[in-house]
Amino acid sequence: MTDVFRKSFTQQEPISEAAISRAADLMRTGRLHRYNVAPGEIGPVAEFERAFANWLGVPFALALASGGQALQIALRAAGVKPGDRVLTNGFTLAPVPGAIAAVGARPLLVETNENLRPDLVDLETKAAASKARVLLLSNMRGHLPDMEAVQAICARHGLLLIEDCAHTMGAAWKGKQSGTFGIAGCFSTQTYKHMNSGEGGILTSDDPVFMARATVLSGSYMLYARHGAGPDVKYFKDLRYDMPNCSARMDALRATLLLDQIGSLPDRIVRWNDRYRVVENRLAAVAGLSLPQRPNEESYVGSSIQFLVPAAWDEKNCTQFTAATAARGVEVKWFGAAEPKAFTSRYDSWRYAQPDRLPATDAVLARLFDMRLPLTFDLADCALISEILAEQFSIENRKSSHAGA
Ligand SMILES: *Cc1c(COP(=O)(O)O)cnc(C)c1O
Repeated sequence: MTDVFRKSFTQQEPISEAAISRAADLMRTGRLHRYNVAPGEIGPVAEFERAFANWLGVPFALALASGGQALQIALRAAGVKPGDRVLTNGFTLAPVPGAIAAVGARPLLVETNENLRPDLVDLETKAAASKARVLLLSNMRGHLPDMEAVQAICARHGLLLIEDCAHTMGAAWKGKQSGTFGIAGCFSTQTYKHMNSGEGGILTSDDPVFMARATVLSGSYMLYARHGAGPDVKYFKDLRYDMPNCSARMDALRATLLLDQIGSLPDRIVRWNDRYRVVENRLAAVAGLSLPQRPNEESYVGSSIQFLVPAAWDEKNCTQFTAATAARGVEVKWFGAAEPKAFTSRYDSWRYAQPDRLPATDAVLARLFDMRLPLTFDLADCALISEILAEQFSIENRKSSHAGA
């Protein structure tokens, strides 16, 4: 078979007509700033914050300009100071070490295992050996570690847990939603995530003091009394003098787009997982290709899929496979590439953070491929894509075993 796939891997579903109409109404008023509300009035941003907090089952959500800003504000609100070390995964996306660097801290990277989850033994060793006070856990590509074990490690070493849920909005561990395990959950509503407002982020917490700090940090000025969704004003009394304004508010237009998407999130998750299962089932039948194990405790959102090629594959095999699938319209990213590409980068390219080597992570990344599964693909598309992947994988795998023989 030499079929070619012709749809784009970066095409989203449209914004609903209802949301477009509400956004147009809002634009006719010109009232786009979140604090451009009358006393007591709940604007679209506060309305969205309440709806999101309610959906997640936490008291507070704070809408922000980006997921990266949510991480940065969470770190500052958690008391991270310049020079501190912050524990985080070696396998994550650039905004994570970026947020740590933005508050003047340095990431202390934890190894990643073949199931793409942080190695909890390495986490505990590094937590014990360092003065780190915060674990910024990045649930990269939607894979949750044993969250109870993570909480136990945090308790043993006095670590505050901040969850990066950019890929786990809607995921859960033993039925408990991702983002509710620590002091804060950080979400992104950037176009490629599970809700789409172009850019945007959400910080959640059940701690009113933490949330009051975050609200002032987000740029509430002294208007927090008309915030509409935050903690009681009594929590702001003293800390308003201590928190810098980092101006990272979300505007009413984006919140209007997002409000419309919360209700359909459960349905979108089902559709993502239907697509994921088609690809997963086909790839699971390919000899030599391995998929990360998904524990029973985890409910995930299959908006992307990862797979590992045999350790015998060298750089040439990996680049040839990427090129051959691309020639047939299938976009896969190889995490082992030496140079950062598109959204993909390896921890050793974050030179500003002076990362230590992570030999176990290096071995995983050298074999790791990633593919997006946008909702604009239907199940037949997913069947075709996985067929192309299976064929090209087998061709490349034969070359690699000949080379080794
Ligand atoms: C997208 C993403 C973020 C935050 O991204 P923004 O583009 O700043 O909204 C954080 N962590 C991970 C793993 C991401 O993929």
